[in-house]
Amino acid sequence: MIQITMPLNFLGTVYREIRQSLVDMGEMFDLLEQPAEVSDKPDAKPLSVTEGRIELDAVAFGYEKERPILHGVSLEVPGGQTVAIVGASGSGKSTIGRLLFRFYDVNGGALRIDGQDVRDVTQESLHDAIGVVPQDTVLFNDTIRYNIAYGRDGASHSEIVEAARAAQIHDFIESLPEGYDTMVGERGLKLSGGEKQRVGIARTLLKNPPLLLLDEATSALDTETEQEIKGALARAGQGRTVITIAHRLSTIAEADQIIVLEQGVIKERGTHTELLDRGGRYAQLWQRQASDDDAAAA
Ligand code: ATP
Repeated sequence: MIQITMPLNFLGTVYREIRQSLVDMGEMFDLLEQPAEVSDKPDAKPLSVTEGRIELDAVAFGYEKERPILHGVSLEVPGGQTVAIVGASGSGKSTIGRLLFRFYDVNGGALRIDGQDVRDVTQESLHDAIGVVPQDTVLFNDTIRYNIAYGRDGASHSEIVEAARAAQIHDFIESLPEGYDTMVGERGLKLSGGEKQRVGIARTLLKNPPLLLLDEATSALDTETEQEIKGALARAGQGRTVITIAHRLSTIAEADQIIVLEQGVIKERGTHTELLDRGGRYAQLWQRQASDDDAAAA
């Protein structure tokens, strides 16, 4: 995923982006500068994604030995399905994403993709297979075209436009005087949070990974923006296996499976309707969010 030949400032931006979605910057630098916490086995093979089935088999993990974070989490996401992970802040949602990327190794159990333990495959192939849509897409100080094309080397203009259309950002780009050549980033046109996220979605669509990890925005978006993002994410998820780390609940009602994580343990699982009918933890979270949203709108 990261080529050492890239200029350093470029790497810095990539790290920031990864950090914002999944890891802390310090950890990323640690990964690069110190003996990596995880490394490829001598006989590591490239990951071969056939169906895109993700399986967490009694996964136990803690960043520090004395403080376990996940306590035997088991979860199966059939290829092409969407699972949303919800739960209070600190319950371990993003940790599952980090383990999927194998930024860390599990302490117990296993994490498999199409039956292959992530510890047995090359990290490069693993990272190539997983697209991430981070909470906050970092834009490079370059054109919108470049920012989308960063998803894949050598993408043609029509492929870039196709990705932008699917991410529902094409019309916006076309409305700008310089279109796809508009400079964005800190020194260019400032895009709104929703626009940036859609550029991030277009970037990921261009990469066309079989597995998708969505780290949903924490902050409330206005209804229109939320609808646009929702549409773009639905398109992005078509034909892929998707894990959504949901910090808010409003966009995950259609997930095939919802997991409620509490202090590193799965408390409930089911569809939105099943979980609401059960009247348990998810129903509580849902009601609380609805009343928070009402209060925010008032
Ligand atoms: P949020 O919704 O707030 O993002 P989350 O459910 O995604 O929360 P995680 O980021 O998975 O939570 O964190 C789970 C626990 O692990 C927290 O208690 C957090 O403090 C701890 N943690 C996260 N990263 C590290 C780290 N690098 N070192 C030590 N502890 C960590």
